Amino acid sequence: MAECPFCRIVQGSLPSKKVYEDDEAYAFEDINPQAPTHVLVVPKKHIRGLAEAKVEDSQVIGHCCLVAANIARERNIQDSYRVVCNVGPGAGQSVFHLHIHLLGGRLMKWPPG
Ligand code: AMP
Ligand code: ZN
Repeated sequence: MAECPFCRIVQGSLPSKKVYEDDEAYAFEDINPQAPTHVLVVPKKHIRGLAEAKVEDSQVIGHCCLVAANIARERNIQDSYRVVCNVGPGAGQSVFHLHIHLLGGRLMKWPPG
């Protein structure tokens, strides 16, 4: 997916502030942070979004959630953070490569807007 910005970040052809990487997942700082911690965790494999994910993607999506939890622990916000996956333009999805937002470091209100 040469035109996908998050594939380009994973491949290193688009710069990012890397937070974590392993064989399956890549985490980086959001370019427009909405909280003191705002990290995006993506599967290295291109998956368009949660709506398009297949059963065989279950493991990597779960892994991305656990990567987010580990980053929260590393940043000492493990008692109060939010993990978000926006699905579709109406819910705010603007990049069509599945990503988990990790937000924390401030009071998180409910319901989100
Ligand atoms: P969403 O609106 O859920 O699709 O989230 C996309 C997120 O990606 C937004 O929070 C953007 O600020 C962020 N974003 C877009 N392009 C980049 C980039 N090149 N590097 C880091 N974050 C990005
Ligand atoms: Zn992609």
